[in-house]
Amino acid sequence: MNGFEEEFADALDDVPDEHDDRDRFVGGHGSFDADVMLVGEAPGADEVAQGEPFVGQAGKQLDRILDDLNVDRDDLYITNLVKIRPPENRDPYRDEIDAWWPVLDAEIDRVDPDVIVPLGSFAAQEIVDTDETITDLRGETVELDGRVVRPTFHPAAALYDRDKLPTITEDLRQALIESEG
Ligand code: URA
Repeated sequence: MNGFEEEFADALDDVPDEHDDRDRFVGGHGSFDADVMLVGEAPGADEVAQGEPFVGQAGKQLDRILDDLNVDRDDLYITNLVKIRPPENRDPYRDEIDAWWPVLDAEIDRVDPDVIVPLGSFAAQEIVDTDETITDLRGETVELDGRVVRPTFHPAAALYDRDKLPTITEDLRQALIESEG
C-alpha cells in the first residue's frame, strides 16, 4: 500500500473541512487483507513527516513487539482514531474524534479484520463504546459485529513503564492467535 486516499475517498470527502488538514494528515498503513487491525490515537510529528502511523518513539516500541512476535507490520493494518496530528500532541478533542470516526468505520468495513486491537484509552473507549479506562479494558475481549476487540495499552505507555511491554506483547500474541481461530 498505500492508496489510502483513493480507497477511502468517499469517507474522506465527508470529513468537515475544519478537521481535514492534509498538512497534518496520516492515513492507515498495511494490508487491506489484514486479519488484525491496530488502532492508535492520532499521528505525531514523525508520523506526519513520514506519512505513516507509528514510526516515531511509540512506533519503535511497537516494532520491538512485532519483531518479538515475528510479525511484519505490512501484514497488519495500522491506523489511528484521528487522522490529523493534534497541535502540541494534545489529546484529541471530542469533535475531532467524531469528525474522523466515519473514516475508521470505513476502514473496518473494508479491511474486515477478525481482530481489532485498540491501542490505549482513546481508541479503546470509542471502539468499545465505554467510559472504562484501558487498565480495566485490557486483558478482556469484546465481540463487535462478529469481530474480536482486544484492547491493550498504547505502546507509548511502555516508554515510561517498561513493565507494560510484555503485557502489550502478550495481548498482541493473543490477538494473532484469535485471528487464526
Ligand atoms: N501514537 C499514535 O497513537 N499513533 C501514531 O501513529 C503515533 C503515535
